[in-house]
Amino acid sequence: STPAAIAAGLSAGARRGLLMKGGAVLETLGKITAIAFDKTGTLTAGKPVVTDVVAGTRDASLLLTLAAALETGSSHPLALAILARAEADKITAPPSSATQAIAGEGVEGEVGGERIFLGSPLAAARRAPITPAQDATIAALNAEGKTVSVLVVEEGVAGFLAMRDEARPDAVQGLADLKGRGIRTVMLTGDNRRTAEAVAAALGLEPRAELLPQDKLVIVKALQAEGLVVAKVGDGINDAPALAQADVGIAMGGGTDVALETADAAVLHGRVRDIPDMIALSRGVMGNIR
Ligand code: ADP
Ligand code: MG
Repeated sequence: STPAAIAAGLSAGARRGLLMKGGAVLETLGKITAIAFDKTGTLTAGKPVVTDVVAGTRDASLLLTLAAALETGSSHPLALAILARAEADKITAPPSSATQAIAGEGVEGEVGGERIFLGSPLAAARRAPITPAQDATIAALNAEGKTVSVLVVEEGVAGFLAMRDEARPDAVQGLADLKGRGIRTVMLTGDNRRTAEAVAAALGLEPRAELLPQDKLVIVKALQAEGLVVAKVGDGINDAPALAQADVGIAMGGGTDVALETADAAVLHGRVRDIPDMIALSRGVMGNIR
């Protein structure tokens, strides 16, 4: 019977690490016509590495010291990259106070009596002027698929840190599989437009860049307004509203507690190809009982 086939589908999925919270989720998954993916930690491995330290008014070692002070205690992927690099360079971060993460922008706080900010060039430009020469340096790093975070101190821009996060090894194949099933694929990211375009072109999907968490929600709603049945796949860091808005919110392996609470489904092994597999499973079950 119908409920028996659905129950069998749910347990077949669970055995392969494809968790669906009930029959209604399995049913909707079979009808998905568009999927919005987060970039960091979803299409990419989420383990960026610091590739360049570009000194400006402060030298490289001081840039890393101040950045590490701000990032101590943060679990953002870029924070972990910076802390790992600081540790490798045997840098001890001084304490920072009134430290505050700003979703989609960066982190700010007070270090050694000075108010400082580390974050996206867009957010940094609202705090201090970025010269055309600095912008050209940032653009060149972005064209290499790197994300740049700008350190702003009292006298202005103190320098940059560039980080690269490799794509998950099965991302190209997983996305091609979805396209073969007639599903539209979009990449959502808070990262800058140039890095997003480089990454999306390599993976073969549509980039939507420089988004704040609220913008991701708006894009999911806009796709739904086009008549599409939308799944959102993410690690859930700052992205819970978009996950909740989607017809099916899918948390990618290693997601935060927030994501797993908000998500309708989860893929535990963190492979992009788990998404087409879950859709194929759902279509199979729904086809069988129709
Ligand atoms: P994504 O959508 O790719 O997960 P986020 O919304 O988390 O990106 O962050 C957007 C941008 O804000 C990053 O590309 C980075 O430039 C900046 N940013 C956010 N958090 C931090 C942080 N803790 N340290 C440095 N930069 C950050
Ligand atoms: Mg994020």
